[in-house]
Amino acid sequence: MATDVLADIWDEALRYLQKHHSPCWRNWFEQIEPLSLDGGLLMLGVPDRSWMHYLTQPDCKESLKEAVGQITGRLIFLEVEVTDGIGAEGQATSDMELMYFSPDYTFDNFVVGPCNRLTHAACIAVSENPGATYNPLFIHGNVGLGKTHLLQATCHSTMKSRKTCNVMYLSCETFVNHFIRAVENGDLYDFRYKYRHVDMLVIDDIQFLSARDRSQEEFFHTFNTLYQSRRQIVMTADVGPAEIPNLEDRLISRFSQGLVTRIDQPCFETRMAILNKKVMMRGIDVPEEVIDFIARKIESNTRELEGALTKIHGMAMVDGQQITMDIAQAALGEQPATTQKTITISQIIEAVTDHYNVKLTDLQSKRRSRSIALPRQVCMYLARGLTNHSLEEIGGYFGGRDHTTVLHGFRNIDKLCDNDEGMRATVDSLVSSLTQK
Ligand code: ADP
Ligand code: MG
Repeated sequence: MATDVLADIWDEALRYLQKHHSPCWRNWFEQIEPLSLDGGLLMLGVPDRSWMHYLTQPDCKESLKEAVGQITGRLIFLEVEVTDGIGAEGQATSDMELMYFSPDYTFDNFVVGPCNRLTHAACIAVSENPGATYNPLFIHGNVGLGKTHLLQATCHSTMKSRKTCNVMYLSCETFVNHFIRAVENGDLYDFRYKYRHVDMLVIDDIQFLSARDRSQEEFFHTFNTLYQSRRQIVMTADVGPAEIPNLEDRLISRFSQGLVTRIDQPCFETRMAILNKKVMMRGIDVPEEVIDFIARKIESNTRELEGALTKIHGMAMVDGQQITMDIAQAALGEQPATTQKTITISQIIEAVTDHYNVKLTDLQSKRRSRSIALPRQVCMYLARGLTNHSLEEIGGYFGGRDHTTVLHGFRNIDKLCDNDEGMRATVDSLVSSLTQK
């Protein structure tokens, strides 16, 4: 197909996407290069593996196929390839269980304010000179204040400027799980080789080590090996090193020997700037007074700020309207978004079974295939977040599962939301449809 014809189709498809599937649309879509469209196979070129990952998440992929299908009137298959830059060579440690980067979590998309200025500067310094300035770098702050965002931005930027730098990024939970498995399988040698031969080790939510004695011991040695060979270590936690409960003293002192920096709650101006940034990234039209309204209403946490925006946007979309002050007020009501009204497990089940097109009896069955287990876990996640039922009670709704299964389901979806745009968009839209009923 001629390239100008393809370019026109792609342009139209992007407009379709923004109109009909705006939760997945991002401003960087305009930089995707349509490479070819032959026999229904659409090839897209992207500069970065994180983009590829985003576009090939099920929700996003289906929306893209639908958009191009609508414009061309035929069934579309989609392939995405990394044309140059990060990921073309796959130089980041490629391990299935390592986290993927979000294309949204870059320095460009991070708003700097008094609450995070020092942390941001430290991350930039580390990415420019790994192992040399602040080592280790320890970032702490409450949930939803941008730690993961900054961590990924740091990795991303380091990998971009140092193509050969072997960056390993993972959650502390993954580290612990790998370690347990290595012990069970007698693979400790491989495990140690893998973790002790990276140039930069970036670990999210290190408080997960709390009270896990053997993992602490292992991490202590990993840390020392890397530190002694001047490899960069970056960690985050929800509290400072000394406040992590049940953490060995020698780890507290190691974690504190570089730079320890805290992210605080954003002030009003920063909240306004963050909202404006998100609005721009998502390409939605939001009047300034609505931005002002959200920024005043939600003070504590940036993730909720974003959630409020998603909710208002979702409400406007349902009615096919522009976002207005009336909609914003209706959406946020008098209280913060998440604690507004009572939602029942039945409503959650209805929304989730509808979305995934599965039956309640499947969710209650013993089946563990992903197509059933995932919606089941989404139900558990939403039930824990949106209702006051205990874990046991929630388990009762899903074939009498015990509280650890529910907790596991909750954590799994929570983690997926961190790493998987499609999942996060799905959960956001389920939450907004449940909370606005
Ligand atoms: P944490 O890891 O501290 O719990 P996240 O990094 O997951 O928090 O941030 C939650 C959400 O808030 C993310 O979508 C992130 O992009 C956004 N966010 C937080 N701080 C900022 C900021 N300063 N600028 C832009 N977005 C931010
Ligand atoms: Mg985080």
